[in-house]
Amino acid sequence: MEVPDVGELTEAEKVALTAGADYSRTRGVPRLGVPEILLVDGPHGVRRQRQTKRYETTSRPATCFPTASALAATWDTVLLDEVGEALGKEARAAGISVLLGPGANIKRTPLCGRNFEYFSEDPYLSAHLAAAWIRGAQRTGVGACLKHFAVNNLEARRYSVDCLVDERALREIYLASFEHPVRSTWPAAVMAAYNRVNGRFCTDHPFLLTTVLRQEWRFRGAVVSDWGATNGRASSIESGLDLSMPGPGSADDAEVTAALRDGRLSASALDRAAAAVLRLVEQTAPARTPGHTYDLAEHHALARRAAAAGTVLLRNEGGVLPLPEGATVAVLGAFAKIPRYQGAGSSGLTPHRVDNAYDSLVALLGPARVRYADGYQRHGRSSDVDVRLVEQACAVAEGTDVALVFVGLPEQDEVEGLDRVGLDLPAAHDALVEAVAARHPRVVVVVQAGAPVAMPWRDRVSAIVYAYLGGQAGGSALADVLCGRSEPGGRLAETFPLRLADNPVHAMPVGPRQIEYRESIYVGYRWYDTAGVDVAYPFGHGLSYTTFAWSQPEVVRGGDTARPEVGITITNTGDRPGSEVIQVYVHDVASTVFRPEQELKDFAKVHLQPGESRFVVFGLGERSFAFWDATRQAWTIEPGEFEIRFGASSRDIRGRLRITITGPEVTGLEPGPRAYHDITPATTFDRDDFAQLYGRPLPDNVPDQRGSYTVNTPLADIDHPLARALQCLLRVGGRLAVRGGRDSPARLLVDRTIDEATPRMLSMFFGSLGIRLSRALVRIANRR
Ligand code: BGC
Repeated sequence: MEVPDVGELTEAEKVALTAGADYSRTRGVPRLGVPEILLVDGPHGVRRQRQTKRYETTSRPATCFPTASALAATWDTVLLDEVGEALGKEARAAGISVLLGPGANIKRTPLCGRNFEYFSEDPYLSAHLAAAWIRGAQRTGVGACLKHFAVNNLEARRYSVDCLVDERALREIYLASFEHPVRSTWPAAVMAAYNRVNGRFCTDHPFLLTTVLRQEWRFRGAVVSDWGATNGRASSIESGLDLSMPGPGSADDAEVTAALRDGRLSASALDRAAAAVLRLVEQTAPARTPGHTYDLAEHHALARRAAAAGTVLLRNEGGVLPLPEGATVAVLGAFAKIPRYQGAGSSGLTPHRVDNAYDSLVALLGPARVRYADGYQRHGRSSDVDVRLVEQACAVAEGTDVALVFVGLPEQDEVEGLDRVGLDLPAAHDALVEAVAARHPRVVVVVQAGAPVAMPWRDRVSAIVYAYLGGQAGGSALADVLCGRSEPGGRLAETFPLRLADNPVHAMPVGPRQIEYRESIYVGYRWYDTAGVDVAYPFGHGLSYTTFAWSQPEVVRGGDTARPEVGITITNTGDRPGSEVIQVYVHDVASTVFRPEQELKDFAKVHLQPGESRFVVFGLGERSFAFWDATRQAWTIEPGEFEIRFGASSRDIRGRLRITITGPEVTGLEPGPRAYHDITPATTFDRDDFAQLYGRPLPDNVPDQRGSYTVNTPLADIDHPLARALQCLLRVGGRLAVRGGRDSPARLLVDRTIDEATPRMLSMFFGSLGIRLSRALVRIANRR
């Protein structure tokens, strides 16, 4: 399809193109045959709503694939590409042009309510998985929208919060997760996040959207706002935003036109934005040709394979798994029958079907070998332990060969918009594990959760299978893994800490105005490994049903350059087929600037038959050794010695190579504050040290007060009866729009949104009236 040149459009048509028609559709240019196109969630399944006008909690059935944390645990870019392609096919069959995914935000803390939608705490891994997903999806003609750009790592106060991050952490951690997919896959779109970064909203951030994304990374797609995130269309367009979603209405168009008249918006910026939307329409045209279908059974089988590949065997004492031939099992815990398989919020979809582990185990082992007990109440986040259910479960387990205990996080704990408050499982789940483990010699715990949880009983059970949120085929995949029909292919893409307090991030304030990323580059294993803090399970960890031998690594070529090729031979020494993940970490032996103990710079997943060997070569690049030098504004390598480590996890290094990179001395390097050099478990990253690293005064972290309210002050922070009245009105509307009781995830999300939404966002609910309302509210509330 050919789209017109932007020069053929009238000013009004250009303006119209830069905002949506409704919740999911863009506006077209009927005069020139430019169609409206659909942008739909999401990252692990197509959420095609029944109408496009507003957000609905139900959608048409689609395949629900494992969520991003499970997909990430596969460490398998080939598989991610396949899943991306399947998602693209389903989107295209539903008439969708752009899929809103994948999410490449970094897991800065295990508590982020959306971690189930994100890949990893490591930018290299996250970036390469996102790129594979995008490649697969875009092969079908559908466009991917990489989100949420950038530094959106907690849900709390997401519509207004300012994330203060130093330049090195921004470049090395947070932007790095987006940079590779943008540069290598040409995503059709990038979604600008809700939050602010270093003082400016992401939707209105010339540095992020223009300098970095367009000029440095050569992004040619469309920058789309997160839903309701645009902070003033005219100024956002000027900063680099192209498309505001959902449509804020015609009054907003008039404001854009007015800004054009009085010079606040340049004609060239408007042309750029309109042209980007035209290109998006053009690029995704192949997705809109008629007759696309997909094979439901094939996608279910892929979802099942992906779920098994993302299942992490954390512990397997005495080789209790796979279940021995002829074993009898007790299946305990209601999650075995009613599984958790996805998270709540915009990524939640209606699956075609949902397999459960209990039925799948019965199908594989035969009914005579499987007994069952609920063990706890399935629904809600009740922490009450039902002693009767626990006793029943223990009785059912008696005399069986293996007790399989299914536990996990309830739906209410993994909801977009809400962060978790701690790592604990519901007390009733922990109590069930403890009670069964006290009486049964072979207990296998299966955990369904999208993020790490505390497992205080972990040394008292034989095995732990971390299933993550396995999508609609998660149950059958689990049965496959437990019975040994599939291997548990997963390795952790995130660290499982022993306790929350082991990471200083959790002592740092979240809001009211800002989140200070005081830990800088010490995120995830970069923190735990540098500080030498014990963890429950390290980054990269995961056991196999087979065994592998790792050879001594060797330099293949280029050992004294910044582009060495290094290799290692892996042999499957067991008697089952299996896969191993080779993780390549780089350790800078001595450096002027502070650096983490080690950083992941490459990886490979190798599938090997029993007895099979493979020599795997890794070509490292300059980025593998470089840090971001804020003084030079460039990636910089300080010549010297580096150790290349080959590991089965960040704490299980199997081979090391030393290389020396030669070159002229790099002068004038700024070492950074002392506190960032001597990292110990006691390091707390104080505000003053961070201020020094940040390089400018930190704003006071206080909420807006009467007199300083703006259209970006969260409604709950505006101390005025009018704000309260508005919230009541929105609550009534929310309750009518959303099914489910007070404790339902959808209601939790709506209620939180109403607290944290800002007056500016009223246009999402009330169109142009909302814009006027927001200004009036702020004016009135500011009066003394
Ligand atoms: C979410 C996005 C999502 C969008 C559209 C927003 O609230 O943050 O991830 O794509 O809604 O549903």
